[in-house]
Amino acid sequence: MIDSAERTVRDGESNVSTERQQLLDWIERDRDELVRFLQDFVRHKSPNPPGDTREVATFITKFLDKAGLPYRIIAPHHEMPNIVGAFDGASPGRHLVLNGHIDVFPVADDGAGWSKDPWGGEIADGKVYGRGVADMKAGTTASIFTYLYLHRLKDKIKGKLTLTAVSDEETFGPYGARYLMEHHPEVHGDALLNGEPSSPFSVRFGEKGPLWLEVTVNTPGAHGAYTHASKSATKTAMAIAVELEKLVEIKPELSDNVRTAIDAGRATMDRAMGPGAGDIVDKVTLNIGTIKGGVKVNMVPSSATFEPDIRLPLGVTRERVLAEVEKIMKAFPEATVKETNCNLPSWVDPDCEIIRIVQKNVEALRGFTPQPIVSLGGTDARLWRYRNIQACVYGPFPHGMGSFDEHVDIEDFLHIVRTHTLSAYDFLTA
Ligand SMILES: [Zn+2]
Repeated sequence: MIDSAERTVRDGESNVSTERQQLLDWIERDRDELVRFLQDFVRHKSPNPPGDTREVATFITKFLDKAGLPYRIIAPHHEMPNIVGAFDGASPGRHLVLNGHIDVFPVADDGAGWSKDPWGGEIADGKVYGRGVADMKAGTTASIFTYLYLHRLKDKIKGKLTLTAVSDEETFGPYGARYLMEHHPEVHGDALLNGEPSSPFSVRFGEKGPLWLEVTVNTPGAHGAYTHASKSATKTAMAIAVELEKLVEIKPELSDNVRTAIDAGRATMDRAMGPGAGDIVDKVTLNIGTIKGGVKVNMVPSSATFEPDIRLPLGVTRERVLAEVEKIMKAFPEATVKETNCNLPSWVDPDCEIIRIVQKNVEALRGFTPQPIVSLGGTDARLWRYRNIQACVYGPFPHGMGSFDEHVDIEDFLHIVRTHTLSAYDFLTA
């Protein structure tokens, strides 16, 4: 005989498994629609710069309107609207936020180097091609459809689900997620799920932070044969760039659990981002992004500028790096340095609940556990981590991201949709 308490528990469990199956059935039924949506999403160009996302935002709001889903537009810059939707479940509970950006990298030289139309959303060999399909229209599609499917089950879930489809991410601009986080605390939530490219094999609990500098060198300059008359601004710039390489020796200070997760994730990082990615994850890196100087081959240059792009790993502060830079610059009185951008590294507990939920769902769907890793590049997820909100990034492979023939495997894309949908459901029914 089953007592009534036990029956309630069993009923609850069978409801959960029925509802999870329902979600998977909807995704299966919508396969073609999901792929078509992603293709159309790519065809609505949204390169940033310039960052005008009005057309692509209208594409999304038309979809939300047709599905009868609640949303509003928050546009601190009229060319860069953000779409924010939210609904409550049947009873009070926790608040999950879905976040994805709708702007993408630009395409250089009218698509030179591409074998497909970068804005065509073309399908070949089971893959969807186009600029921004990996970064991150596939992930944002997963957020939008998660919002759609969970809305159908809103009487079954607790708490609140918020969708934020934002502009102005690719340039770390101020009008997208940063604006929302600063001015709309209703999008903070208790946890964040984001579909930026990662790889189905990894889930990201942190990211490195860029620190960008501009170094300017000024000297009197001279005729190219009169090297005794003036120091060369370009040679000085090159000498400084070489000295800055010392920054990569700075060692991070990390807690044991983060250190362990980083070590455990190195091989997965190599697999997702190419051999060597796992070696630099906990190192300061230096890239000289631009260098300009000199007017003519037979003149000693009087001016030169270059832009170091330094990436701070978890556990290295901006102050420590700037103190080192200052020490190096002391030997070059003809040079000045200016900070042009800084986003600090961010991380959450690699074993936090939303990451464990995603891992469990991937285990069930694909039979492997995605490894927690740290992202080398930046995402809007940092803004939630800065506020100590557990945040998880789980998306497709970054094939061709920022380069040529960007694409997403359709099966991987559908896997990301399933994982996000089930994980959101789990978080809001736990
Ligand atoms: Zn992105």
